[in-house]
Amino acid sequence: QTPGIEAFLASKRGSFAPVMGSDVDLSTALVFDLSVGSPDRALLGGTIGVEDLTGDIFRQMESAGAEAGIGRYNEARQVYTAGQFTLEFDEMPERRTIHLGLDVFQPAGSPVYAPLEGKVHSFRNNTKPLDYGPCIILEHTTEDEGQVFYTLYGHLSVESLTGLHGGKQVGKGEKFASLGDSSVNGGWPPHLHFQVVTDMMGNRGDFPGVGGPGQRSVWLSLSPDPNVILGVPAGAFPQDQRTSREILSSRREHIGRSLSISYRRPLKIARGHMQYLYDEEGRAFLDAVNNVPHVGHSHPRVVAASHRQMAVLNTNTRYLHDNLVDYAERLCAKLPEPLGVCFFVNSGSEANDLALRLARSYTGQRDLLILDGAYHGNLTSLIDISPYKFDGPGGEGAPHHVHKTPLPDPYRGPYKGYSSATGARYADHVRACIETVSESGRGISAFIAESLPGCGGQIVLPDGYFNEAFRHVRNAGGVCIADEVQVGFGRVGTHFWGFETQDAVPDIVTLGKPIGNGHPLGAVVTTPEIAGAFDNGMEYFNTFGGNPVSCAIGLAVLDIIEEEGMQANAREVGGYLLEGLRALAPDHPIIGDIRGMGLYVGIELVLDRETLDPGGHQASYVANRMRDHGVLISTDGPLHNVLKIKPPLVFTKENADYLLYCLGKVLKENYLQVPA
Ligand code: PMP
Repeated sequence: QTPGIEAFLASKRGSFAPVMGSDVDLSTALVFDLSVGSPDRALLGGTIGVEDLTGDIFRQMESAGAEAGIGRYNEARQVYTAGQFTLEFDEMPERRTIHLGLDVFQPAGSPVYAPLEGKVHSFRNNTKPLDYGPCIILEHTTEDEGQVFYTLYGHLSVESLTGLHGGKQVGKGEKFASLGDSSVNGGWPPHLHFQVVTDMMGNRGDFPGVGGPGQRSVWLSLSPDPNVILGVPAGAFPQDQRTSREILSSRREHIGRSLSISYRRPLKIARGHMQYLYDEEGRAFLDAVNNVPHVGHSHPRVVAASHRQMAVLNTNTRYLHDNLVDYAERLCAKLPEPLGVCFFVNSGSEANDLALRLARSYTGQRDLLILDGAYHGNLTSLIDISPYKFDGPGGEGAPHHVHKTPLPDPYRGPYKGYSSATGARYADHVRACIETVSESGRGISAFIAESLPGCGGQIVLPDGYFNEAFRHVRNAGGVCIADEVQVGFGRVGTHFWGFETQDAVPDIVTLGKPIGNGHPLGAVVTTPEIAGAFDNGMEYFNTFGGNPVSCAIGLAVLDIIEEEGMQANAREVGGYLLEGLRALAPDHPIIGDIRGMGLYVGIELVLDRETLDPGGHQASYVANRMRDHGVLISTDGPLHNVLKIKPPLVFTKENADYLLYCLGKVLKENYLQVPA
């Protein structure tokens, strides 16, 4: 039936009476971007202030000289947050996000005319928040084949409904309604929602104006593009965004291919808000893996701090600026003595590279001790100290000056458990390694380790390991570098820094990822003594590092962590999550180990709890199936068999419950069954 109606409407194109009347020239219409990823305005649940939005929309129309504003057909939007927009599915829950009509923004009271002859099918005042308010549906019949279809008019004034009755004739071009204001129209800026409906499916006075993305093609066939009637010139509409397939194809041509894409079914994410990521169709994904948006994706205070400073000044650090020293003081105050001198850089990699240079200047040595399985960054100097890379595909093994010591893995390593005796046994390897180096007549520059090794598989170190290892390193004249790029800033819950969980104080600390909540910022903090040795005449200048915008953002992140209780939340929710995961383990023999601190959690999958035969494919399967359920996690570890959970610190107990619910469901699937 539908093609018949669409063909009929297409054949009449240009002959319809103007819905907003002949005084409103739609050729000047301003088309708004109300899509999920619209950079124009953050139309998120809870943040739509109807007065602000109305003012904004009508001001923009005025300054563009537009007689009408248009909201697009077939646009995925995130504004529909009320309960009536929720859809339950087996796996991924959805909201109705796809707009099935066209909006015409006009002042309240503006008249509405019938574009073609018809009769009143039904009408109703739909009074729920974000609903249509008064709505009229007209019924029309195609001349030639006598097919019936409908036009729907939502967000009308209450008066529009007076004197109406089903079957009442409405002539082409007849004024039959007017627009309502936000007090009656569901709480929206005044506008007409205009939609074509080919089958009312039993609805009266109402019909879904938005449909679920999972049923998009069905809804679009029930409600074809009404612009064929309205007649907004095609040129007024911006170009469509690229499809995922088009982006993938362009990436293949123009982006280096040595970059992987997450998930078997890639995600096109259009917006982030706190612990949620939204795809281009408005599906919400619970982000349980991104630790960079530490205080939440696009946290409004971070966004505001960057906007404010960006609008005033952004330049290098050879001029005096308060932000640089304010931030350095705040950061140092978070660190134990004698860590009190900062260098600001743009990434975790730059931080680690500089840390290696500092150690080299201070000790005059070049040899480095590292943990097996480690990753410290993407620069040449760091690939050299990252077994995760140099021992992997394309790697060339450890360079001459780099010495691996065993990863102190209390589950899979040679010594088990978290006791300080275990810690000391692992640290003994550090001592032995130093001896081997000195036997060859060389000295140690530094020992570098993550305070909780991430790529190593979300490892929690055994007690006392750092202190013992640090003692051996310092005895040999080397310095100790704690890579806090992943785990710093309160993530572990009990402490602000990962190394504090080891009750140790490093000589150099490197910071990245969460430090700027997504803004490229990194830092190295060290002792006055080490910093002094580096001041050897060669200047260290970093064009972008420590600029006023970066520092404003860094300050905002620290403020938020402190004022919004992020560390305490990490401890509480992380503990709750670990408890929930441990409760799952007895029913699922594939779970070999559950470990973590705060919101830094690893679940190691094994095919056999005795042999620890790793379940790498199974871990990848779980991550993909969790994505199908709308929960983002990933895998890590040298054997790729560790599920990695490290969400933004705004993660709640409800979020943890949902993650546990989905994980419990997925773990029951056939592929994950192993003998107990
Ligand atoms: N150190 C660690 C522990 C990391 O995990 C990373 C990044 N994954 C880096 C350093 C490098 O940081 P960046 O990618 O910001 O250069």
